[in-house]
Amino acid sequence: MLEQLLSKVRTYHPGADTDLIELAYQYAAKAHEGQFRASGEPFFNHSYNVALILCDLKMDEPTIAAALLHDVLEDTAVKPDVLRTEFGAEITALVEGVTKISAYHFTDREIAQAENWRKMLLAVTRDARVILIKLADRLHNMSTIRFLSPEKQHEIAAESLYLYAPFAQRLGIYRWKSEIEDMSFEVLYPDEYRVLHDAWEHRQESRHHHLERWRALLDEAIASSGIAYRLSVRPKSLYGIHKKMERQHKPFAEIQDLIGMRLVTDTVENCYGLLGLVHSAFRPVPGAFTDYIQMPKINMYQSLHTSIVGPDEVIAELQIRTEDMHRRAEYGIAAHWRYKEAGGVSVAHKPGAKEDIESRLDWLKQMLSWQDDIKDVREFMQAFKVECNFEQVFVFTPGGKVIKLPHGATPIDFAYAVHTDIGTHCYGARVGDKIQPLNYVLKTGETCQIMTRKSAHPANHWLSWVITARARAKIRRFLHDQEQSHANK
Ligand code: MN
Repeated sequence: MLEQLLSKVRTYHPGADTDLIELAYQYAAKAHEGQFRASGEPFFNHSYNVALILCDLKMDEPTIAAALLHDVLEDTAVKPDVLRTEFGAEITALVEGVTKISAYHFTDREIAQAENWRKMLLAVTRDARVILIKLADRLHNMSTIRFLSPEKQHEIAAESLYLYAPFAQRLGIYRWKSEIEDMSFEVLYPDEYRVLHDAWEHRQESRHHHLERWRALLDEAIASSGIAYRLSVRPKSLYGIHKKMERQHKPFAEIQDLIGMRLVTDTVENCYGLLGLVHSAFRPVPGAFTDYIQMPKINMYQSLHTSIVGPDEVIAELQIRTEDMHRRAEYGIAAHWRYKEAGGVSVAHKPGAKEDIESRLDWLKQMLSWQDDIKDVREFMQAFKVECNFEQVFVFTPGGKVIKLPHGATPIDFAYAVHTDIGTHCYGARVGDKIQPLNYVLKTGETCQIMTRKSAHPANHWLSWVITARARAKIRRFLHDQEQSHANK
């Protein structure tokens, strides 16, 4: 087992410090000796598998070592001091972080989740590797969930679906997000899962046939341009299809765009080059094009998204991106702790990498600072869900600056996103060349000009008009301060 783990680490990091991993392996195996999982296997198999899962993200040695040790503080007699003496501060901090996240128990599940969110947020802003270990832990626990009682299964699956999957998505690790979703889906909605699973299998052959056809058609459209590219098929998660069926109120048979393809090329220019070729060879579906290269998602995801209509009116979803964007979409935040394929130099040591991590964690830091203004955990949860929603709109300031807002945002959200003072004193909005009410829902591409005056102030009903955590927190703060000053008069 040890040799298998070490050789896996060496495949992506030939010069790895395997002594550290070996030491952690021996130590954890001994600490968990005599303990067993619900499945009947030795407990240490779990720790070992969590380490293996992290190898898929090509994580550094401290992370792999901490993964092996991740349950020793919680489930054995080992104390943090001892761990610190044996393995040092870095690894101990990682293990303590994972233990802390796992340790909170609350009676009310919703609150428990909100509290966990806070803990996770704090852990991530300190060291995102903590959350990567926790996610790997959850992935493995989900894969062995059938050995637990139905109640326990349900509880864990719900938490995974509503807490951990969105977190994986937010950190840009889309593979893990889909895996967690599909495993939770199977536990929470077994009937729907089974039906969809069978239907999906049933369509396997026709899907394959369509794909080969698309491959030939795309080759034909692109070949003469000389642009080098590779076509990869995007795995679609069953839960994703399930959600689409619910959203569109359609049965599986009517869900058309099940073919997801990806064109990966070398440069940004070639991405646009490919887009042009594809759009002139096939009819694009109106409104389906999104340019996430110019407008990256908050987690820095970049790609061009479009849908095209092929022969027999079959629709395909197409993503176009560079190799670099592709890697970032696969590994997400983990990309910062990965080793370069050959060089053996940690990417995190590359100049500029630090700033990159910082900007990726910006949204988390902001959530935490708003947290002071959001006293009710339920409200915090709600705010988090909105911030987690990837449906974004891009609205322009009169000066041409782009403000990213969640779908459903109003001019008040916009005003507070620009500046707190503008939010506090706004009384109206000009969107394009029309005056719109403050609860108007902004759309991508619109230009919004906020009208302010000194005497204008937030009112209680604004709370029902805003959708962003920032605006909500600022309005609450203002109303609270006003109440205080009235009370003091
Ligand atoms: Mn564990």
